[in-house]
Formats: sequence, C-alpha cells, structure tokens
Amino acid sequence: MKAEKIFYHLAQLETEKADNISQRAHREVFAATNCLECAQCCKGYSPIILEEDIERIAQHLNMPEHQFAANYLMLDEDDEWVFYTQPCPFLANNNHCTIYEVRPASCADYPHTGRSGLADIADLTIINAEICPAVEHILHHIERQLKELV
Ligand code: SF4
Ligand code: SF4
Repeated sequence: MKAEKIFYHLAQLETEKADNISQRAHREVFAATNCLECAQCCKGYSPIILEEDIERIAQHLNMPEHQFAANYLMLDEDDEWVFYTQPCPFLANNNHCTIYEVRPASCADYPHTGRSGLADIADLTIINAEICPAVEHILHHIERQLKELV
C-alpha cells in the first residue's frame, strides 16, 4: 500500500484508534532501532531551531546567544533558524549528539511519528521516510495493523 493510502485509511479512524495504531508502530519500531548506527537525520537534515532551543543550548555551551547564532545558525527560506552546516556541527564521529541533553526540541521529537494525529502530518512524514529508515518500517507496521481491522 502506498503511504498516501495508509494515511487515508488512518484518517478514517477515530483519533484514539488511529493514535493507538500509529503510536504502537512507533514504539515497536524504535524499540528495535539503534539510532547510533544511523544518524541519517543528523547528517542530512537540519531541525528547525526555536528561540528556546537557542537559549538552552547557548547557556549549556556557556556562550552568548548571539555568538551561538553567529557560529552555528542561519535563517532558511522560511525565515526559521537552522544549523549552518550539515552534518550537524554537534554530531560526533561515533554518531553521538554532543548536546544530547539540551538538543533542539525538533531533534528530540524526530521523526515525529509518536505524535497524536499522525495523519495530520502525512506530507511531512512521507518526506521524512526518505531520510529516516524507521519511518518506512513504521508505515509498514501501520499497514499491517490496518489490514487486521478488516
Ligand atoms: S543537535 Fe544533536 S540530535 Fe540534533 S541534529 Fe545535531 S547531533 Fe543530531
Ligand atoms: S534517521 Fe531515523 S533511525 Fe536514523 S538516527 Fe534519525 S531517527 Fe534514528
């Protein structure tokens, strides 16, 4: 089943039922995924970095916020802060995040498949499936559960 069709069927369900299915898929796939063997999201994609992320990370680095922004950030075409370089400047050679405890909220939530209302971010999730191998597994998992319903 194509991803668009999976999301179409997921969107037909009551929110609670759809969330149970997508969040179960998210939990089970990530329980079997070692992100330290991958780090594709940190290598090929920059999270949107919010003002509160800047404040938290700059404080952690003991650096004024304007200096942190000048050293690491740029504004993208939507006027949002992103990292200036890819791979991410905070990604270590062993794929660890060197600011893990204070990483941007978007990193902590990525690939956003644990959210309620996954069908509402279908377009974003389909884009993320090209970066994150876990997303494709999650979509297959959702598809299997949907087939069990009929
Ligand atoms: S801040 Fe950490 S989790 Fe976020 S992209 Fe960089 S290395 Fe990855
Ligand atoms: S791309 Fe997906 S599987 Fe790979 S490190 Fe990021 S979240 Fe984990």
